[in-house]
Amino acid sequence: MAPIVIDGASIAGAIRSEVADAVAERDRHGLAKPGLATILVGEDPASAVYVANKIKACSQVGFEGFHHALPADSNFEAVEALIEQLNSDPTVSGILLQLPVPEGLDGAALSALISPNKDVDGLTPASAGALALGRPGLRPCTPAGIIELLDRTAIQISGSEAVIVGRSDLVGRPLASLLLERDATVTICHSRTIDLPEVCRRADILIVAVGRPELVAADWVKPGATVIDVGINRTDSGLIGDVDFAGASKVAGAITPVPGGVGPMTIAMLLRNTLLAVESVEARVSA
Ligand code: NDP
Repeated sequence: MAPIVIDGASIAGAIRSEVADAVAERDRHGLAKPGLATILVGEDPASAVYVANKIKACSQVGFEGFHHALPADSNFEAVEALIEQLNSDPTVSGILLQLPVPEGLDGAALSALISPNKDVDGLTPASAGALALGRPGLRPCTPAGIIELLDRTAIQISGSEAVIVGRSDLVGRPLASLLLERDATVTICHSRTIDLPEVCRRADILIVAVGRPELVAADWVKPGATVIDVGINRTDSGLIGDVDFAGASKVAGAITPVPGGVGPMTIAMLLRNTLLAVESVEARVSA
């Protein structure tokens, strides 16, 4: 039987519409627009495109956008001062420091200065710690987007055997915590895992975030499993994922394509995090 092809573009579109509706509802109640501050240090063309896409997505859902472009030779103190100013600005609900920053600046140390209440990327040590300990906080966008894909496709997480290939701070590790929080039995694999195909074949939900074109072959997939392909690999034949989509589609029960699967979810979840950030500040003020 043909698998369900999980349509990330359409699910991301639904989340964007929900956020836009919530912003319009806030407007009707006289509440402030959520505001996202973006910081781009230097002129890296790929980073400039990523930031431009985020700014555009913000304006489409009715957010206020505050963009700060700093010269490539900015020192640590200049970026720090800007982050601190944005941390204390009540019109700014979320702050996004586009990484990588130019050589000579410590991007991780700068990101760590972002207030956890405004950490809409969900990647600072404070947010990562809250997630690991099961405490409330803003969750990283790509892993949270994967949970949305599973939920909105009605894939059962609780009690499932979930195998994640890749242990990055951006995807694999936070995703493991999110799946554990939802009562999956979680295995994390990496470059030193012994007999990776055999471990993958155990998975009811197999998530691959490695960055190697078509690493996962069809015979690594348990019949009927859900396969989430996070990989984005630019090749001569275009963008391809970490999973052999054509082969795995013959075995899987549900599968994400590349492009059009996980990719569109990241910005959608950034928008939702920005909305959650403003709502949780308001909830604390009114408590
Ligand atoms: P990293 O390079 O940070 O991590 C890759 C992981 O894969 C590491 O844990 C590494 O293991 C593991 N690995 C490498 N080779 C193998 C192998 N042969 N077998 C098993 N594991 C292996 O990557 P990211 O997590 O940042 O990104 C992974 C992919 O996802 C990339 O293609 C990236 O472009 C894509 N991505 C897509 C996003 C989106 O759709 N929005 C967002 C983020 C990422 P070890 O730790 O042992 O080195």
